[in-house]
Amino acid sequence: MRIFSFLTLPLVALAIPPPTASLRSAVEKREDFFPYLVEDVCHQPDSRFDQVQRYDKMLKAVQKAREMAKLALKEWWDEGKHGEAAATYLAIPNNGTYKDNEYAQRVHANLQNVALLDERIPFLSRKIDVHCTDISDKCNREVEGPNRPIGGYAENTNHFVGGWHYDVVLCMPFFMADTPDHLAEYWPTQSDFRESVAMSFLENDAGKMLHEMMHIDLISADRPHIIDQFYNGARVYTAPIVADWVLNYKAKTADVVQNADSYTQFVNAVFFTSKFGFLPPPQREVPLTGKLECGGANNEYVDKTQDKYIEDFCTNVAAEYQPGSIGEIARQYDEGLPEHVRFRFYRRPGGKLLPNEIKKQCTDTMPKIFHECDTSTNWKHGGAYTFSKGQDDIYTYYVEPRHERPDPIPTKLPGKCDVWYKFWYDEFYIYGGLWAGNDWGQGQLLPNLRRCGIVSEWRFTYKEEPDKDGVEWEAYGRLPIGAQQWNCVRQAVVDSGGPSDIGCGGS
Ligand SMILES: [Zn+2]
Repeated sequence: MRIFSFLTLPLVALAIPPPTASLRSAVEKREDFFPYLVEDVCHQPDSRFDQVQRYDKMLKAVQKAREMAKLALKEWWDEGKHGEAAATYLAIPNNGTYKDNEYAQRVHANLQNVALLDERIPFLSRKIDVHCTDISDKCNREVEGPNRPIGGYAENTNHFVGGWHYDVVLCMPFFMADTPDHLAEYWPTQSDFRESVAMSFLENDAGKMLHEMMHIDLISADRPHIIDQFYNGARVYTAPIVADWVLNYKAKTADVVQNADSYTQFVNAVFFTSKFGFLPPPQREVPLTGKLECGGANNEYVDKTQDKYIEDFCTNVAAEYQPGSIGEIARQYDEGLPEHVRFRFYRRPGGKLLPNEIKKQCTDTMPKIFHECDTSTNWKHGGAYTFSKGQDDIYTYYVEPRHERPDPIPTKLPGKCDVWYKFWYDEFYIYGGLWAGNDWGQGQLLPNLRRCGIVSEWRFTYKEEPDKDGVEWEAYGRLPIGAQQWNCVRQAVVDSGGPSDIGCGGS
């Protein structure tokens, strides 16, 4: 029987009265999905996916879409549940006043027509043809970009004679989509189901069918025609995009309720909430797992207080970083000094964090490399902290000491002090390592020495490498003469972080 294809011809072309009697008998057998008439040719398999029973799948998707619309009306509109789903996918404020909201009323009326269209229009007066044939040659159009074929399309056509004609066409992605019932069964069997399920994993054939139904003017009736809205250059389609558009872009409710997929996502959200007992988030980023590796050579380490450079480094990283960018961002601190350290950030493909999120990740992570390595000493060999997504390393942070230092780390601070009486002046030689050395003596040692009088001929020199006593630098200067100077210089050394038991020799 070719009843369906017969009827799809515009009546004017037939020039014969419509075969009402035979249609009635055929449709009565299909009454469970009236007024949707599924194209007969869909009984035959498509050679590209011949295991799919197309007719069956289309029929069940129509039935399921109606069932899901009914469930949404009952639990949302009648029982007042699912306020969060309505806020997320329909932009209807979750404050209990939805029944007074004109847009909520519109959603209600549109979903009622999905659910009850068969009861509302006189039997056989109107119908919606559901096709598996690409009647307008649109299935292979790349609407969302390469290799993103559309799931289906809908057309409202006004024929000069015969009035409005409604067609829904389903394309390959529809036939590949899972059913809502199978998804609702499958997910709870997964061990970490609650933490891993997301609406983006729950796209289904009934939802796609509902999307196309929403474009049909028989459904929206005297209300505005429902379109696919655009956001960021793409259709507002799928849960993550609808939710982002509604929640982050703050799309107007008037636009949201005129977007076909808003209905699909809302109805899906209600359906899966009723199955799971909670509303899954629109999507889940695969969580990043972090791993700390302490490292560095024995003779390369920095002072724990050099974590003061983290803020500057992370600000630079965030300024230079863009999601999806790759490569290294590095900064060096205390260059040319024993404390010379390099901070480094390396990102690989797949990183989706935003710059402000990277800033936070950086300021949280760098102190771990400092303080969770070498926990028992003030000296830090550095290391690396890597964030991975599954098997893939995405972001790595490094703290890398760059200068050779005393090895092993002296248990006692290296320090030696001599003061010599030179008749016109006293002169001092101070030798140190691991203290007061990261600023050419300017921060503490020199100011403290000035307590002993005017310092002249001041010299501060770094050694290429530490000597056998761990000495990294040497300071020299002259002071006014006086018997008190031996003790005064000693105190200046101690107050600058030098060994507390140091004594100043010489004579
Ligand atoms: Zn659409």
